[in-house]
Amino acid sequence: METNSVKIGEKIIGGGFPIAIQTMWKSPLTDDIESVLTELEELADIGTDIIRFAVPDIEDAYLLSEVSKQSIIPVVADIHFDYKIALKCIEGGVNKIRINPGNIGASWKVEEVIRAALDNSIPIRVGVNGGSLPSSLRNRDDLAEAMVEAAEMELNVFEKLNFKDVVFSLKSSDINSTVMANQIFSKKYSYPLHLGVTEAGPLIPGIIKSSIALSSLIKSNIGDTIRVSLSDTMKNEVIAAREILKSSGKDSLGVNIVSCPRCGRASFNTHEFLLSVENNLQKIKKNISVAVMGCIVNGPGEARHADLGITGSGDNVVIFRKGKIVRKGKPANAVEMFIEELGKI
Ligand code: SF4
Repeated sequence: METNSVKIGEKIIGGGFPIAIQTMWKSPLTDDIESVLTELEELADIGTDIIRFAVPDIEDAYLLSEVSKQSIIPVVADIHFDYKIALKCIEGGVNKIRINPGNIGASWKVEEVIRAALDNSIPIRVGVNGGSLPSSLRNRDDLAEAMVEAAEMELNVFEKLNFKDVVFSLKSSDINSTVMANQIFSKKYSYPLHLGVTEAGPLIPGIIKSSIALSSLIKSNIGDTIRVSLSDTMKNEVIAAREILKSSGKDSLGVNIVSCPRCGRASFNTHEFLLSVENNLQKIKKNISVAVMGCIVNGPGEARHADLGITGSGDNVVIFRKGKIVRKGKPANAVEMFIEELGKI
């Protein structure tokens, strides 16, 4: 079923809008707001739609208010335990609040937050986490059902106050429970869903777990925003999320990179080259394909469909477009030549 649309700053999620990509700020906020804003611009450049910050105390709420006033992307305040911090963030102008029902405590505290959000026209995400369910649900055998019930306990409070701009997430570090909980919830309710596997792990295991869970949900048209939670950089979380969306047929704007793994025939270091051009490629908002090949065996021939390609060829590299060689040079100049050609398309 199509979900309700919810506005987070200038970004709309749900209601059939494209799935939004989120990441979470990885360190305590400092008063160096300028450097935070610069990093947010870089994250926006590679496709970040929404940024979430943990707000552990009132001081952080003041700092986050400053960030949200100037941020290029909508800012979400993530609150655990103390509802007063949520009130301070709302007053400070953040674009959305995320609360965890297992941690925020009594319903009246949640009601206070909802009333403040209503007055300021901002949405709230209820983030149910399989590892921190309300005490009454902690010993249940079926984790997916327990997560849905935790969401429903909270939902009652929101519906009682006629608050519509609510987004839910039902995350667990267990893939099956995450998938099942979201499937059950989406059959019953039209509230937008934020998807993720919580504490998914380091780069490779984290991406694999997230890909399995998220792509199966996305392909069933479940999910309005996603985050790939990694013990790694924000940038890699965003790149991984984009790749999941692209592989699931949901992100048409972005570069499809085809690259060789390298073998004994390689006369060009494709791995080093890719690292050098990755930032340029991730910023492109066009549906193009790029091929990076180590040798002529799989060069212009096998990658002839690429809009732009580069391959090792003896002591040189050749750059090709749609299979036709357009430039030749030394590997030392490969990055410069390739970026120039990229600019032309
Ligand atoms: S393109 Fe060439 S170097 Fe790369 S894996 Fe294939 S044969 Fe090996």
